[in-house]
Amino acid sequence: MHADVTYTEIEGLIALKSKSARWPASSNTYLLVSDNKSLIIDPGCGFRERAKLIEKVLKNEKVDMFESVIVLTHAHPDHIGATKFLSTKHVLIHAIEVEYAKNPSLLSKPFDISFIKNVFGKYSQFDLIEYFAGLCPIYGVDAIAINDRISFGDYTLKVILTPGHSPGHISLYLKSERVLFSGDLLGDVMAWYSPSAGGVEAYLESLSRLEKLKVDIIMPSHGSPTTPERIETEREILEQREKKILEEIEKGIGSREELSKSLFGKRWSFLTNLLIVESHLRKLRKEGKVTELFK
Ligand SMILES: [Zn+2]
Ligand SMILES: [Zn+2]
Repeated sequence: MHADVTYTEIEGLIALKSKSARWPASSNTYLLVSDNKSLIIDPGCGFRERAKLIEKVLKNEKVDMFESVIVLTHAHPDHIGATKFLSTKHVLIHAIEVEYAKNPSLLSKPFDISFIKNVFGKYSQFDLIEYFAGLCPIYGVDAIAINDRISFGDYTLKVILTPGHSPGHISLYLKSERVLFSGDLLGDVMAWYSPSAGGVEAYLESLSRLEKLKVDIIMPSHGSPTTPERIETEREILEQREKKILEEIEKGIGSREELSKSLFGKRWSFLTNLLIVESHLRKLRKEGKVTELFK
């Protein structure tokens, strides 16, 4: 919940940077201020503290909260939760994510919960919303679908669909300042990905999409500002994982559990790590590189 308030070098941009980049820490919040209004990118985890901090900072900037707009990079609890406590009139999200914002229990689909329940006994009673509740609560938000461009005061942001981590995940490109708000796609910590969110294939495509932009600085949802080199680093991580999986299968590993152990060690049974492994397996099966049926 705690965040450092940073007045960035970019005119009108204030960053509320969370103390940790790791779940269940809140996402960073970015506030673009123009004409006594603010574009609030990802309010953060569903605790009142973050909403109070946003309101305090914007009050200092003489911003009218009601006339401000919230834009959500995707409908995960660490980005969307605090929206409930803000009096902002409009909330925008990609059309694909509208249903998840309105009814978070539907997130079970992009989190592939039924697959997880079927395959891993330990998750048979798992409830996603209950799991979020204690760590970073999520609430339904009456969000509306975003267009491919957001014009806001002096700024225009291009909306770029970047699935893989969530099906309607977006990055926001402020071309005039050569700044990219990358959501969870790029940052200190590589995001997880699941088959129903687009998986590793969509993630790779999303990286290619971002690579084409002329960008000097990337503002991620988790961690410190970074540079476009991060795109290549993440691509390498994805390729390394695939290579490792193929090597392990070659050696005779025949279960998802063992594959996840070899990739993630002690953290092998984390829901998100199991989804990463499954994403790679489905890609490899489609490409004919893996034919085994896994337990
Ligand atoms: Zn996320
Ligand atoms: Zn996040």
